[in-house]
Amino acid sequence: MGLLDLDKIIIKRTILGIRCSNCGGNLVLSPKRSIAGRFIKLVSLGTLTPKSYKCEQCQKRYMLL
Ligand SMILES: [Zn+2]
Repeated sequence: MGLLDLDKIIIKRTILGIRCSNCGGNLVLSPKRSIAGRFIKLVSLGTLTPKSYKCEQCQKRYMLL
């Protein structure tokens, strides 16, 4: 049961509809905050919270505002 729950979380974290423009792979939420992301949040006074995403296949990084 524990393993099944974990699988659900991983599937949920995959953004459906957004694909890597480089290889067409799935983008998953990256736990690491990029410096650019932090800067945007600072400049926008916290109104924008950029999220980092990473391609599962080619590891290319994306940022979503
Ligand atoms: Zn990719």
